[in-house]
Amino acid sequence: MAELFYDDDADLSVIQSKKVAVIGYGSQGHAHALNLRDSGVDVTVGLREGSASRAKAENEGLAVATVAEAVTAADVVVILAPDQVQRHIYRDEIAPNLKDGAALVFGHGFNIRFGYIKPEAGHDIVMVAPKGPGHLVRREYVDGRGVPVIVAVEQDASGSAWDLALSYAKGIGGLRAAGIKTTFTEETETDLFGEQAVLCGGVSQLIQYGFETLTEAGYQPEVAYFEVLHELKLIVDLIFEGGITKQRWSVSDTAEYGDYVSGPRVITPDVKANMQAVLADIQSGAFAERFITDQDNGAPEFQELRAKGQNHPIEPVGRELRKLFAWVKPSDTDYVEGSAA
Ligand code: NDP
Ligand code: MG
Ligand code: MG
Repeated sequence: MAELFYDDDADLSVIQSKKVAVIGYGSQGHAHALNLRDSGVDVTVGLREGSASRAKAENEGLAVATVAEAVTAADVVVILAPDQVQRHIYRDEIAPNLKDGAALVFGHGFNIRFGYIKPEAGHDIVMVAPKGPGHLVRREYVDGRGVPVIVAVEQDASGSAWDLALSYAKGIGGLRAAGIKTTFTEETETDLFGEQAVLCGGVSQLIQYGFETLTEAGYQPEVAYFEVLHELKLIVDLIFEGGITKQRWSVSDTAEYGDYVSGPRVITPDVKANMQAVLADIQSGAFAERFITDQDNGAPEFQELRAKGQNHPIEPVGRELRKLFAWVKPSDTDYVEGSAA
């Protein structure tokens, strides 16, 4: 059984006694900075010159500085810029200004696991990775709850890196739900696999193929949209609450029988073999290298794939239909329908 941590296992005063620099104020950065601040922690947000995020952080009353200034003053530096730019920020602005003995906190193990950032021996290296999007990390905290976190220590220079990691996890509200002990390697490899094979890659492709199959057979796109995309949320809610068994309990016997006989026809053992190949590319570093090389070249492959996804025929159908759904409220994010960059 994995080791679990809750609020009673952590001492909030550890992180409250530190000066914390949160580098980046995006999805995770804004949530960590605001939750820590509301937990009584001294937080400064570190941003680049001319940052579009500066006004947002200042409007929340947070102290904002350049990355170099924030790091120079900090006992704990939290790196929450996008994974593909972290090593540049680390090399140019964090490493040269990092106090002796200052701790580094990551929200994902990518740069440590694949060796893109190699901190010196004297620093604690910890990870507190919420298992949910940043906007939920903030919303749950405000509502008195938390998003579960996974916690790891890669380097325990001080001898008290676990106390710091758990205190930080409590500060962002994660231990109100639960903390799970892991390693940088396990978190990085399972996180990449989950998003590629199932949560993002697998689900997106499944929806698109389902939509194509129905519309190519002559069914109305609006009806196809409801069947293969809209209803997915309702099904996933049941799975989230009570596992696949609860979902099968709730649907009709017809749907349940169809699940048993057709699920394995669609998702064949080949798919599992493909998943194993995806995992092998993650473990070997081949995926990381492909991503970082493309990013370093200005991300041509990434941009092309993003445009292709946005142009899939299901997208305009959904945009028009969602305008008609009075019950779908915009969430508290900056996302504007039809404007994703
Ligand atoms: P975002 O893409 O939301 O981060 C954007 C922020 O980073 C902005 O404030 C941006 O500032 C800043 N930034 C971008 N480039 C630079 C730069 N060169 N120098 C300084 N600041 C920069 O990141 P996420 O929150 O998605 O991810 C952060 C970390 O959290 C990653 O390690 C990710 O894997 C992890 N994570 C993310 C999750 C999520 O919900 N998104 C879930 C769990 C973990 P500007 O306005 O100047 O562009
Ligand atoms: Mg991820
Ligand atoms: Mg149905």
